[in-house]
Amino acid sequence: MSARLIDGKAIAARIRAEIAQEVQTMVAAGHAPPGLATVLVGDYHASQAYVRSKQRACAEAGLVSFGHELPATATQDEVETVIRALNVDARVHGILVQLPLPAHLDEERVLARVDLAKDVDGFHPINIGRLAMKGRKPLFVPCTPAGCLVLLEESGATLAGANAVVLGRSNIVGLPVAMLLLHRDATVTVCHSRTRELPAVCRQADILIAAVGRAELVRADWIKPGAIVIDVGINRVADPSSPRGSRLIGDVAFDEVREVAGAITPVPGGVGPMTIALLLRNTLTAAQPGQAKTERLD
Ligand code: NDP
Repeated sequence: MSARLIDGKAIAARIRAEIAQEVQTMVAAGHAPPGLATVLVGDYHASQAYVRSKQRACAEAGLVSFGHELPATATQDEVETVIRALNVDARVHGILVQLPLPAHLDEERVLARVDLAKDVDGFHPINIGRLAMKGRKPLFVPCTPAGCLVLLEESGATLAGANAVVLGRSNIVGLPVAMLLLHRDATVTVCHSRTRELPAVCRQADILIAAVGRAELVRADWIKPGAIVIDVGINRVADPSSPRGSRLIGDVAFDEVREVAGAITPVPGGVGPMTIALLLRNTLTAAQPGQAKTERLD
């Protein structure tokens, strides 16, 4: 039996259309449109492409974007100066620092400079700290993990009491998605490169989130029949038959896993589009009249 496809592209398009409508209403009521500032340091191609697609998505939904590009040689001070200026710029409601930063920069210090009320990527240490605590609520939740949760909801998954296995423990995906699942009362196992008997651990999962960055690591015999599988991985592999000579695939061997799973996200067209949709959503939230305009801790 073939798994239901969880169509992230369609779900994200719906969310983006809703956001565009809300922005229109907001502007018609005389408020400034939501503004997103992107901070890109260096010339890493993938990061440039991500930032461009975020700016395009802003334009399509009626948000304004402000691009800030710094050379790979930018100093810690220079990057922090840009962030400080954006913190006090009333046109800017959300600040996104594109990760990864060049290795010589202190990422945690840069992220900690972002005004909490503008931390639409949800990576400020305080927001992450609140996410990691029971009974606390971050102002913003990181977009890719939040997107995974929306996809689970859309798939009709019951989270409370479910066995959820998260492959990967990165700050960007694995850890925050595990926290979100815990907050939703799932029983969560977080796996990483030192986990033993990975296939057997995965076979316990009612919900499996793969965020490892290893092409087609997850095979059909790792899957509990009927499980819901969310594939976060984006891996470029050679494909002579494609015009580009390569194509993107996930961390899950889609064709064989879909024969066992109950529902599954494709790559591309699953989690990827959700990340941008949730970024727009967070920026709109930050711009809502009445939303705290500043929560700086420095
Ligand atoms: P990281 O490289 O930061 O983390 C990878 C994690 O996977 C680590 O925790 C690592 O373990 C674990 N891991 C690596 N190899 C194995 C293995 N063989 N078995 C078990 N665990 C393993 O990656 P990210 O979290 O940043 O990204 C993960 C994937 O998600 C990538 O493909 C990335 O491109 C994609 N991604 C997609 C996004 C989207 O919008 N769709 C957004 C962000 C990322 P350890 O900690 O022990 O090293």
